[in-house]
Amino acid sequence: MPDAITYHDEDADLGTLANETIAVVGYGNQGRSQALNLRDSGLKVIVGNIGDASKDRAREDGFEAFGIAEAVRRADVVMLLIPDEVMPEVWARDIEPNLRPGACVSFASGYTITFGAITPGPDLDVVMIAPRMIGPGVRDRFVDGKGFPSFVGVHQDATGRAKPRMLALARGIGSTKTGCLELTFAQEAHLDLFTEQGFGPMMGIALRQSIELLVEQGYPPEAVVMEIFASGELGYAMQRAADTGLFAQNAFHSHTSQYGSMTRSARVMDIDLKARLLDHLDDIRSGRFAAEWKAEQQNGLQLFNQMKEMARFHPLFDWEQRTRKAFRMDD
Ligand code: NDP
Repeated sequence: MPDAITYHDEDADLGTLANETIAVVGYGNQGRSQALNLRDSGLKVIVGNIGDASKDRAREDGFEAFGIAEAVRRADVVMLLIPDEVMPEVWARDIEPNLRPGACVSFASGYTITFGAITPGPDLDVVMIAPRMIGPGVRDRFVDGKGFPSFVGVHQDATGRAKPRMLALARGIGSTKTGCLELTFAQEAHLDLFTEQGFGPMMGIALRQSIELLVEQGYPPEAVVMEIFASGELGYAMQRAADTGLFAQNAFHSHTSQYGSMTRSARVMDIDLKARLLDHLDDIRSGRFAAEWKAEQQNGLQLFNQMKEMARFHPLFDWEQRTRKAFRMDD
């Protein structure tokens, strides 16, 4: 297996973008943080946004802010930081008709390109910088001087400068400080969706069924919810695992905990989740999920809203409220 290709600060030259205007389109979770970071890195940044509230916020933060079409007209580099599901419509209406030839379009996710929702013209550089970090973390970790990882890639190189532009953007938002790993847009999209649709639900089922079982066995729901996840201990242990390694973090637990966990893990090794996980991965790779999700949006999000509503009828909803009240977690 070849080593992964990664990029760090020394691989990226901010000077590549010295004479270019970057339009950050969308001033939400990622947009605000990335715009602030790029500006603090010395780059020229303007903001494009559809509505007025976020535009006003951008202006309060000291940016020149415009409608999306106008911002794109003024830009050499366009960073698309709006939700993936609205991107095709915004692309067709406000972005594509206004892009300069040779402009660079940067995506924060491989989704729309991978599943054919957007097909950029051949005269554009098309790159991806997909942070492995939520929006506020992108700013906080830049300010703290720590950085955050991203998956990056070049989908199309019209000018011969796509890669240096991508790396300069990645450095500007603060990501090459930690490291950027090169992937195709499709690899990024598949991995991201698999975490949400494969790993996430399996972990969620283990968590929910454990809670249900313990309550059925007569333990107080408040104690069960607190024990299993509400204390934040699980989140803390996962952070330690991310920092030090999944096996290395065992050392932070008692010997009783380590022994019990290792021996009981061995007993359930025969549970084969991979076949089920592969089904989910196949749905993603074949484009079936993307087609289903597009149809659901065209259908007015009926199933989406029904399922969100149904979650409120699971007893866990009430147990969680009781736990929050008992421990005064909302005070
Ligand atoms: P947000 O949901 O925070 O985006 C909100 C922004 O999009 C606002 O500026 C909003 O404008 C604008 N917007 C919403 N609807 C529309 C529309 N119909 N037309 C035009 N603009 C609209 O997005 P994220 O920051 O979460 O995601 C942006 C990109 O980053 C996506 O590609 C996502 O996959 C990727 N990404 C996100 C991560 C995350 O943690 N959130 C992590 C890594 C990548 P207004 O305020 O005026 O409504």
